[in-house]
Parts: sequence; structure tokens; C-alpha cells
Amino acid sequence: MKKLGFGTMRLPLLSEDQKDVNIGEVCRMADKFLENGFTYFDTAYMYHGGESERVFKSAVATRHKREEYLLADKMPSFMMKSKEDNARIFSEQLERTGAGYFDYYLIHSLDEKNYAAATEYECFEFAEKQKARGLIKNLGFSFHDTADVLEKILSERKDVDFVQLQINYLDWEDERVQSRKCYETCVKHGKKVVVMEPVKGGMLANLPEKAEKILKALLPQMSVASWAIRFAAGLENVMTVLSGMSDMKQMEDNISYMKDFRPLSEEEKGALFKALAEIRNFVTVPCTGCRYCTDGCPKKIPIPDYFALYNEYERFNRKFYPTFGLNDLKENGGSPADCIACGNCERHCPQHIEIIKEMKKVASAFCK
Ligand code: SF4
Ligand code: SF4
Repeated sequence: MKKLGFGTMRLPLLSEDQKDVNIGEVCRMADKFLENGFTYFDTAYMYHGGESERVFKSAVATRHKREEYLLADKMPSFMMKSKEDNARIFSEQLERTGAGYFDYYLIHSLDEKNYAAATEYECFEFAEKQKARGLIKNLGFSFHDTADVLEKILSERKDVDFVQLQINYLDWEDERVQSRKCYETCVKHGKKVVVMEPVKGGMLANLPEKAEKILKALLPQMSVASWAIRFAAGLENVMTVLSGMSDMKQMEDNISYMKDFRPLSEEEKGALFKALAEIRNFVTVPCTGCRYCTDGCPKKIPIPDYFALYNEYERFNRKFYPTFGLNDLKENGGSPADCIACGNCERHCPQHIEIIKEMKKVASAFCK
């Protein structure tokens, strides 16, 4: 399998509404992806407010032969209320995607709390039964917690085939995300790894000037995002790297260096770690834009959109005030100043961001 997967969490949109996906553009992107020999698509029950699976059906399952693609989908234990939800969600997913079966199936976003829910609702046992029926070919889980928690899960779930981890060069030695330690835990247990967030929600495609200069000095023709994808894909146990591609330009860029993939050389790794030192000074809120936090917000605050604007504001030393972006957000959702510190968002944040604290800073910057 080629080491680039099409993540369908950030598909092109026709409006601000996450459900309003530009299906025509996704069809063109999927065709281009398949034409170039790539096969792996990754979706989930809750991406794009539930539309991502249906978009996959329209763009891929109804337009391409089953043997042309591989599909990964996920069981959201964090949305479940009973064991019976396994069968309900799984049959909805089969219907929504039109794929007939899942090549890869994951218990979604495990951390200590979600693993307890998955255990209580017997998600693994349910998925094993579907595997025995041929409806799942490979069973795994996606993971957002410490290496110690991962060690516990892999010791208890010896039969899983693979693990999906957040790996990127910014989080490699980060003590909250623990990319390196988690990767090494998977290697120790002989599990293959699928990488998510290699570009950290787009953050590593848009670097501070000094960091970009270091990378461009060595490879002027290559995008800065290419360094992040190649870093993750170069790890030996990595099966594929998911890129949440939002337009054709991103897809063509990814294809250009992943079609005939070449890992980073020692000289390139040296440049990347120099650039990393520059980047560390600039990341304010390490939000990846996954939107796991938004559904439960009683004030309907578009949390990641405010964090994206706030990061830009800080990156340019508070010289650029995002008036237009802010007006759009204020018209379409709650304001950071409305936050009541209920903590619903923090419970779902895979990056363990102290959202309440950060939201206060955003409010004091943008809600005067
Ligand atoms: S803590 Fe604030 S931002 Fe988070 S869910 Fe509650 S109201 Fe929304
Ligand atoms: S704050 Fe956390 S949960 Fe919300 S979008 Fe950012 S990374 Fe995802």
C-alpha cells in the first residue's frame, strides 16, 4: 500500500456549514487520488456532522469498483449509550458508505475514558464478530492519550491488527501527545501504525518565516507540508499517513512527493529539527481543528475557528486583526465571551488543550 491516505475530515465545503460538502470537487479529488495508484480512504461516523460517510459513497463507492479502494471507518464509543448502539451504528455505516465491508475498522479516539466506555459497551467484542463475518478485514483503534494508557490497552487487546496515532514532528517529543513514545509502544507490540494529523491540522503547512526559510534553503521546490508528511511516512512501522485534503491543490502537492516516496535524508532531518526550534516559539494554541469539542458546547462557540484566528493573530505579533473572519464567526455561532466554563469541550479534546483557559485569552483579544 502507498504511504498516503485520503482523510475525509476536512473536505472542501460550499458554505460555512460543515455538512455542505462540495461533492463535485471530492469526486475530482478521489479520481485523481485513485488514478495515481493510491487506495486508502479514511472516514468516521461523526465527520462533517455525519456527511463524510455519505460523501464517500457518492464520490467513490458508487463510481469505482470495490477492489479499487480500501476504506477505514470508526465506531464512536464516546457517542454510545448502550451495547445495542454497536449494531445500530455499524449497519448505518454500511448503508451510508455503500462499501459492503470495511478494510480497516477502528474503535474511535480511545483515551482512558473512551476505552472504559468501549469496554463497557463491548465495542471490541462486537467488532471481532463482524470480522469473523467478513465485514471487517482489519481491526484497530485510534488513540489520543499517554504511552502508559496505550501499553495497557495493547496488553489487554492483543488481537488488534493496527493502531492509528497522532504523529508529526512538532508532537514527536511533546509530553502531552507523546508521539514517539506511543509509536515505540506499537513497535514493541508488533502493531502496524496509521498516522493521523501529520501536518497538525494544517499548522505545519503554514510555518513562521524563519522556519520556512530553513526548509526552503535546502529544497526550494518542495512545499513545507511535504516535510511533515515525509517525516511521518519515513517511520518503519507506518503503514500509511492520512492527509485531510481540502482541495485539489493540496492533493496534487501530496501526490507529487508521495507517488514515489523517499524518506527524509540525514541532512533533511537536520534541517527539519532546526526549523522545529523556530516553530516552537510560535505555536500558541495547539488545536488541530478536529472539531470533537464543538457538538457539546451549550453556547455553540465555534471553538477551533476562534483558535485558528487567535493563532494567526499571535503569529503576526498581534499586528493583524482578523476583522472579516471574526465577523463571520460572530454571525454564525456563540462568542468566546459567552463561555460558561462547563468543561464539555475539554472532555473531548484529543490534544488535551485547556480550552476554558485559552478561550478567556481569545475573549480578551477579540471581544473588547
Ligand atoms: S467550557 Fe465554554 S467553550 Fe467549552 S463547551 Fe463549555 S461553554 Fe463551550
Ligand atoms: S480544541 Fe481540541 S477538540 Fe477542539 S478542534 Fe481543537 S484539537 Fe479538536
